[in-house]
Amino acid sequence: MARLELDSVTKRFGEGDGSVLAVDDVDIDVADGEFLVLVGPSGCGKSTTLRMVAGLESITDGEIRLDGERMNEQGPAERDIAMVFQSYALYPHMTVRQNMRFGLEESTDLDEAEMDRRVDETAALLDITELLDRKPGALSGGQRQRVALGRAIVREPKAFLMDEPLSNLDAKLRSQMRTELQQLQADLDTTTVYVTHDQTEAMTMGDRIAILDAGELQQVATPLEAYHRPANRFVAGFIGEPSMNFIECDIDGDALVRESFHYPLSAEAADAVAGAANVTLGIRPEDVSVSVDSRGNSDGDDADTDSHSFAATVDVVEPMGDENVVHLSLADGPKLVATVDGLRRIEDGADVVVVIPENA
Ligand code: ADP
Repeated sequence: MARLELDSVTKRFGEGDGSVLAVDDVDIDVADGEFLVLVGPSGCGKSTTLRMVAGLESITDGEIRLDGERMNEQGPAERDIAMVFQSYALYPHMTVRQNMRFGLEESTDLDEAEMDRRVDETAALLDITELLDRKPGALSGGQRQRVALGRAIVREPKAFLMDEPLSNLDAKLRSQMRTELQQLQADLDTTTVYVTHDQTEAMTMGDRIAILDAGELQQVATPLEAYHRPANRFVAGFIGEPSMNFIECDIDGDALVRESFHYPLSAEAADAVAGAANVTLGIRPEDVSVSVDSRGNSDGDDADTDSHSFAATVDVVEPMGDENVVHLSLADGPKLVATVDGLRRIEDGADVVVVIPENA
């Protein structure tokens, strides 16, 4: 049982002008048994945050607590936390059994029989019993990943920290391991912080996700909340694949306007933007519908200004199997991405009408 709290945690590398503020005043409260995914672009401070929790990096400011107890001054071995690395970090000269036991020998004073019992139990859980006598060199990437997990699980720690643990696996195995790992975490009910730069991984695995950008926490929310109610434009653009479209517009009365574009707002939306000079309209690709322009007019002037449809040209269509990702240009320049059913035939270069529903 463990609640993990990061309270105004800050990390600065170096001093003075050349110093780097890698993590800036981050507050995250991970509930007991929760699977929290820390996600953000490369260099945003994810690993540094995780390493501070693990005790591998000192904390410049703020406090980290496990079950209410301050951990700042504890070394890595004193913290009842197990970390799983991207590189697996297995000892090549030891068998799988020895690799799994090693952590126990280091961090506990269990007797031999109890250590063996735990290793056997964990190996069975991960379906690696038949690998126990092999060395890491004789294992596939997926098997090594299981052993690395096994070494963390066998310790029965209060919390798991995982730093991009699936990134060395091929795409198919990665998606299989995602599901497996999530199931395993739910069964073990151990508080987990999982770091990834991959928003799909974050969306599919996390009970909640914490989104970082440039060392600053942007939002902590369930995946659905982050998707439907992003706290800011960064989150809106980062979460979702393909990314959300952003169109810069002026405001004219209760409509958003551009040269080719007249988008009437609902009363509620008009109130929300009242007083602003310009606004960015954010639209998810799946909310944009595309119809081939049956009126045969390609000059872009015939978009129906009373509804929410606009003339556009198809730049390129990327077939993804179950869907097509359609890259479009509106008549006066802005780019727009739409996802449509994979069976629909839309030609590159076609003149089309796009419909952006009210309140998209
Ligand atoms: P992420 O894991 O999100 O890719 P990191 O936590 O590794 O990001 O890095 C965050 C920032 O801190 C980056 O600007 C990185 O260059 C910097 N940084 C990380 N480790 C060190 C270090 N040991 N010394 C100086 N700067 C570092």
